[in-house]
Amino acid sequence: MSTNIDSLQHETRRFAPSSEFSANAVATAEIYGRAASDPEEFWANQSRELLQWEKPFTRTLDWDNAPFAKWFSDGRLNVAYNCLDRHVDAGHGDRVAFHWEGEPGDSRTLTYADLTAEVKKAANVLTSLGIRSGDRVAIYLPMIPEAVISMLAVARIGAVHSVIFGGFSADSIRSRVDDANARLVITADGGWRKGKVSPLKPTVDDALAKEGDHSVQNVLVVRRGENAIEWTEGRDRWWHEEMATAETEHTAEAFDAEHPLFILYTSGTTGKPKGILHTSGGYLTQTAFTHKNVFDLKAETDVFWCTADVGWITGHSYVVYGPLANGATQVLYEGTPDAPHPGRWWEVIEKYKVSIFYTAPTAIRSFMKTGRSVPDGFDLSSIRLLGSVGEPINPEAWIWYRDVIGAGTAPIVDTWWQTETGAIMVSALPGITTAKPGSAQVAMPGITVDVLTDGGAPVGNGSGGLLVVTKPWPSMLRGIWGDPERFIETYWDKFDQPGATNRRMYFAGDGARLDEDGDIWLLGRVDDVMNVSGHRLSTAEIESSLVSHPIVAEAAVVGAHDDTTGQAVVAFVILRADQEDAQTPEEANGILRSHVSEQIGAIARPRQIFVVSELPKTRSGKIMRRLLRDVAEGREVGDTTTLADTSVMQIISDKLHGTT
Ligand code: ATP
Ligand code: MG
Repeated sequence: MSTNIDSLQHETRRFAPSSEFSANAVATAEIYGRAASDPEEFWANQSRELLQWEKPFTRTLDWDNAPFAKWFSDGRLNVAYNCLDRHVDAGHGDRVAFHWEGEPGDSRTLTYADLTAEVKKAANVLTSLGIRSGDRVAIYLPMIPEAVISMLAVARIGAVHSVIFGGFSADSIRSRVDDANARLVITADGGWRKGKVSPLKPTVDDALAKEGDHSVQNVLVVRRGENAIEWTEGRDRWWHEEMATAETEHTAEAFDAEHPLFILYTSGTTGKPKGILHTSGGYLTQTAFTHKNVFDLKAETDVFWCTADVGWITGHSYVVYGPLANGATQVLYEGTPDAPHPGRWWEVIEKYKVSIFYTAPTAIRSFMKTGRSVPDGFDLSSIRLLGSVGEPINPEAWIWYRDVIGAGTAPIVDTWWQTETGAIMVSALPGITTAKPGSAQVAMPGITVDVLTDGGAPVGNGSGGLLVVTKPWPSMLRGIWGDPERFIETYWDKFDQPGATNRRMYFAGDGARLDEDGDIWLLGRVDDVMNVSGHRLSTAEIESSLVSHPIVAEAAVVGAHDDTTGQAVVAFVILRADQEDAQTPEEANGILRSHVSEQIGAIARPRQIFVVSELPKTRSGKIMRRLLRDVAEGREVGDTTTLADTSVMQIISDKLHGTT
């Protein structure tokens, strides 16, 4: 029996960059050779070029205590200074840092000078509340400028932020506050979501009112929603009052390159979220490098929009640290894509002439579901580059994205990375790579990845297996907060080579296939890989096949126990809006089973296909297959705390067990 993931995919479309794009691109092909000849030296040079070190480093990588890495360890810098003051000092104070757009249509423009001034004041506020270097600060805010200002103010004084996505419950807040022993929570009264104010401060109050002692001394509250809130005297402070009296000057002190910058919890797709720790110099180097090269950033002219919430790693690395280190102009949008109307995002692109747009496949598929007439109603001609992150992007969605949003010409970069990797690890470079829809393609310059069998042997081109990173990288996680054992166990034990010194490899937890050219195709999480009659099948491939059928908008596939085949393929599909009444679920079932069978082979034909109206997703839009597997196998559904809508699982269970 093969330990590899059977290769089933036959996507052959190719898209080379235009000669015009290539001629003006930031990254040129020689970069790969330069990085490969001496990766450490390559990163050291990038770091010196992209950042300003107060004390230059002399040592690049210290891997003596693997898997605990140190990068640039004897250097000192201030992360916030690198994102703010130095651009002002260089004469770019008038450049717009953020075009902020509130959901109800209010807006604010912050230049680099404005943002620097706000962060300086906020840093003084934090200090006046007793926050010191190394203290943890929880941030629970909507997508308003104060979210970015808070993060940078915390970084500026050497404290450590833990941003908690604004949709999380009181339980999720409390467990994160306790895990990190946060001294301060920064929140807002409420924020706008789907046309109304959704309260935040009351959720923080609930979190802190839960049983047991907690470490929080103050709650700093930004006024945004103007909803009624309760007030705990002594503990609660208004942001605007503190800011009004704060000192305006603040000198940024330099910290060690390995000084902790933030803790961020993973999305919990495969289990209990892990508190991932990132530090300063290496993280900022790789986020700045990848932001500039993957997105082909021309800081003077581009308008960059990454739609991720700052509560996710994508928001940390590609709304806050990477783009600001590069002096980019960005859009920051508070609300949901469809409020107050389904074309809201496209309206924002038209308004601010967004040139680089970075979003997730789940969003793209939901736009496909409503059809191209919505984006076609807006002028999207400013767009010159598109990015995707979060899940494998199925080729149908890739083509739609390029045709409808990118006018059939914009290159697409499909970026593979994780909370743990801190920055992009695998992606095309837009002026160099000939794109293959559905493939994340090549490791970044300076990064080495491979695909291995369970036993640790390279699978070689044309086969599938487990994705690993074979050498340490600057923005790698430095640990799981408070749990070094789990850090080693989860990521480093699988491919530890006993006897060999420092030959630890990072196990990413994702399945991948190398095609004949050695390009990487992500196949979904290893935990989600199915074994049907001895064949290892990928969820991503079968889902792609289902979505390529014109009646399907979205699909999720899991392996459920089966007495004859070991596991059987079970699919959950959402039909496109105009198809919902066109056929019965039985008809859809028949059509789609034969479609998968024709496209991939009889082995991949789903045993069952359930037509549903929703799929269980995390708040960052990832499908939680483990919950669907629970349902498909008739088990009690596991931990749902990071689910966007907890009622979804009930609806799906009821449907499956015939109650509706
Ligand atoms: P947990 O680790 O708690 O289960 P999570 O893995 O969903 O949660 P994140 O760090 O937000 O948390 O997501 C990283 C994962 O997202 C990757 O391991 C991969 O499975 C998936 N992913 C991200 N980008 C891509 C991409 N471009 N192509 C394929 N998969 C991707
Ligand atoms: Mg993960």
